[in-house]
Amino acid sequence: GKTRKVQWTDACGKELFEIKEFQLSEGDLSDDDFGHGSDKCNWKTFATTDPRSGEVITMVAEGEKDDVDLAVKAAREAFDHGQWPRMSGFQRGQIMIKFADLIDQHIEELATLDSLEVGKLFSHNKLADIPSATRMLRYFAGAADKIHGETLKMGGPFHGYTLKEPIGVVGHIIPWNFPTVMFFFKVSPALAAGCAMVVKPAEQSSLSALYYAFLAKQAGIPDGVLNVVTGFGPTAGAAIASHMDINQVSFTGSTEVGRLIMEAAARSNLKPVSLELGGKSPLIIFDDADINMAGEVCVAASRIYVQEGIYDDFMKKAVETVGDWIVGDPFDPHVHQGPQVDKEQFEKVLRYIEHGKREGATIVAGGKPCGENGYYIEPTIFVDVKEDMVIAKEEIFGPVMSLMKTMEEAIEKANNTRYGLAAGVVTKNLDIANRMARSIHAGSIWINCYFAFDSDCPFGGFKMSGFGKDLGMHSIEKYLQVKSVVTRLHDSPWL
Ligand code: NAD
Repeated sequence: GKTRKVQWTDACGKELFEIKEFQLSEGDLSDDDFGHGSDKCNWKTFATTDPRSGEVITMVAEGEKDDVDLAVKAAREAFDHGQWPRMSGFQRGQIMIKFADLIDQHIEELATLDSLEVGKLFSHNKLADIPSATRMLRYFAGAADKIHGETLKMGGPFHGYTLKEPIGVVGHIIPWNFPTVMFFFKVSPALAAGCAMVVKPAEQSSLSALYYAFLAKQAGIPDGVLNVVTGFGPTAGAAIASHMDINQVSFTGSTEVGRLIMEAAARSNLKPVSLELGGKSPLIIFDDADINMAGEVCVAASRIYVQEGIYDDFMKKAVETVGDWIVGDPFDPHVHQGPQVDKEQFEKVLRYIEHGKREGATIVAGGKPCGENGYYIEPTIFVDVKEDMVIAKEEIFGPVMSLMKTMEEAIEKANNTRYGLAAGVVTKNLDIANRMARSIHAGSIWINCYFAFDSDCPFGGFKMSGFGKDLGMHSIEKYLQVKSVVTRLHDSPWL
């Protein structure tokens, strides 16, 4: 593709969004296609930075309460009077499929945005994250015409049935770690249900969300149905959580902010919330495990319990695996790990590493920043980690894993956390695998794999990892409400 500049200006010609040296394929968008963000002049803006260097990529509109109000007004109009909730589920599905097709056509630009802004690997964006997002859209497009209630057998001369109606205007507040995947976790089932929505991406990852809103319009999603307000949590995010005209909020992010969202919902209009929060997911490796598989599976895990018999071999394998790990520019196809998203996260992860050392854990790999500039950290493995150490308890959200030796009490240790997002088990023994799957208190259990997702596989935590599922047919339910309709029967031949 050719290299060019994409600009997005407001009605007064002020630049809101500009990306230089953007890869576009032939016959692609022109600058004019980008349209206008809003008619409002003199936007407040904030800088979004490139984690490879810390340099500013561009300025992004800083939406606040007033902007959320405008977006909710547009969404209310679209929901209360517009076509989207009133058209057939099949028609909605057709438009969602068109949206997915457009994303496929713009995959290079979208993958670029997520690498540029949060340092995610370009190849992963292109081969995994964005294709999984379009699969979600197509999966829920197929579900849009299969939403229906039930016929009720009432006790008496009544005919009863339920209607499943879209819940209304919904708010989605999402984090930066998977900007594209999180966007479609929320947006796809809500679109299928017939809701209108306001999405607030994380302040670290605004750009692809704006691009998705733009493609949604091109796909034929009516004005007002899918609104993106970029900005910060305590302002734009809080305005969504406490809005009286928003009927439901879906949040993914930290447990602390999840609590604030629930409080704001309780204090405003008692809107239902769904929360996907932090985790400290255990991976348990039993001594019959295939050591190569265990090595492959472990790379995404943070708290690893290894049975004594296999501990030394596994530790060697893990150190070897991260030794081959290339940390560097997320656009380089040979790289395994990009930078941390921003300075704050970079410093937070380094603080955890220092804390682990102070508490007496031993580093057997990594442990330092790397690269000349930017927010790069070596993949880090701690051993001699005790259950009560901060690095074993708190979510670090960086390339840091803790190895712990375990003998009998794997289940107890796995459950010894206030979180319950997910867990992994590596074993060849089916009885152990089944027992673990039924004993661990977590929303997803991965056996001989880790971090495996699918549109049809519900995802969401237990305990302080939250409640409510994304993905799977369950996730549509939170965007629907059930209405019971009862009619008196006269002269019915049977009851
Ligand atoms: P965060 O909670 O700080 O931010 C998440 C979102 O909430 C952002 O859009 C942010 O702007 C917004 N926000 C912040 N304060 C707010 C407020 N007062 N009111 C309303 N919105 C507010 O989390 P983060 O640091 O961006 O992301 C990392 C966290 O997300 C980690 O704890 C991680 O475990 C969690 N996470 C969980 C899942 C999951 O599926 N359970 C997936 C990804 C990330």
